[in-house]
Amino acid sequence: MASSSVKVAVRVRPFNSREINRGAKCVIQMQDKSTCIINSKQPKEAPKNFTFDYSYWSHSSEEDPSFASQRKVYQDIGEEMLLHAFEGYNVCIFAYGQTGAGKSYTMMGKQDPGQQGIIPQMCEDLFRQTAENTDPDLSFSVEVSYMEIYCERVRDLLNPKSRGALRVREHPIMGPYVEDLSKMAVTNYSDIADLMDTGNKARTVAATNMNETSSRSHAVFTILFTQRRHDNMTSLDTEKVSKISLVDLAGSERADSSGAKGMRLKEGANINKSLTTLGKVISALADMHGSKKRRSDFIPYRDSVLTWLLRENLGGNSRTAMIAALSPADINYEETLSTLRYADRAK
Ligand code: ADP
Repeated sequence: MASSSVKVAVRVRPFNSREINRGAKCVIQMQDKSTCIINSKQPKEAPKNFTFDYSYWSHSSEEDPSFASQRKVYQDIGEEMLLHAFEGYNVCIFAYGQTGAGKSYTMMGKQDPGQQGIIPQMCEDLFRQTAENTDPDLSFSVEVSYMEIYCERVRDLLNPKSRGALRVREHPIMGPYVEDLSKMAVTNYSDIADLMDTGNKARTVAATNMNETSSRSHAVFTILFTQRRHDNMTSLDTEKVSKISLVDLAGSERADSSGAKGMRLKEGANINKSLTTLGKVISALADMHGSKKRRSDFIPYRDSVLTWLLRENLGGNSRTAMIAALSPADINYEETLSTLRYADRAK
C-alpha cells in the first residue's frame, strides 16, 4: 500500500471593501514557497516565517506577475489530485481558514470566466479526459454526493426534503459511510453544477432556519469515479474506484466563549473538535510519511464525524491537499497567525 502524503498551500486574498474603507494594512508577504506575517501592532516583534508547498499571492491583480489565479491554483493542486484519482487513489482537498478568508472562492469560485474554483475546474477536466478516451475496453462512471456536517450531524444537501440527520455506519470492507445519502449519476459538468446549486441553496435555507450562517458547517462534495476495464479473453470486468472528496471546512475562528451560550457554545466546541481532530489526523499522516514513523492505529479518525467519514480519503491509499485561506488585513492578525500555524502542523 502506498504511504500517504499531504500537500499544503496557503493563499492570501485581496482586501475586501470593509478593509479598504478602514485603511487596513497588509500583514502578509510571500516569496516563492515562503510566507511571512508581520505583527503591525508590535513593530519590534520579528516577522514569523513559514514554508509551504505553495504560497499563493492573490492579493494583487492579474497584471502582477506573482499573482496566483484560480487557474494556477487548479493547475498545481487540482490537476495533480485528479491524476492520482485516475491512478486509482482516493483523494481529498480541504479548504481551511477563518470565515471570509477565501475558502469557498478557492473551492467553488464564481461563474464568471476565470473565476471558477477547484471543484468546477476539476469536474470539467474529469469529463474532458474521459471523453478523450479511445480505448473501447475502458469505460467510466461518475456519481456525486454532497453533504453538510453540522454539530457532528450529517445532512444530505442533494435531498433537501430529508429533514433529519442521517446515520453514520461502518461497512466491513468499504469503511465508514452515511446511510441513505443520495448519490447521483452524472455524465457532464452541467448536471453537477445544477446539483451543487440545489445543495448550496439547501445549505443556506437550513442556515437561515437555525439563525446561523453556513460558515458554521463543513460542506463535503464527493465524486465517486469508477474506471471499468473489460477483458475480452475472460469476459470479466475489473473496476478501479476512486473517491474524490472536496471539503469546504467550517470557519476556523474561535467562538467567543464568554458570550457564547447554549447551542452556540456547543456548536463552537464541535467545530473546534473536528478541526482539531482533522489537524491531528493530517499531522499524524505527515509524520508517518516522514522520519517520525507512527503506526496507523494511532490516528484518531474516530474523534470526529468529519475525520471518521474521510478515513478512506486520508490514510492508506490516498493523497491529500490542504489549502489554508488567509486574510491580508492587520485586524485579522491573530486568526491569520493561527491559520498559518495549523497549516504548518499539517506538513
Ligand atoms: P470563506 O468561504 O472563507 O468564508 P469566501 O470564499 O466567501 O470566504 O471569500 C470572501 C469574499 O472574498 C468573497 O466575496 C470572495 O469572492 C472574495 N475572495 C476570496 N478570495 C479571493 C481571491 N483569491 N480573489 C478574489 N476574491 C476573493
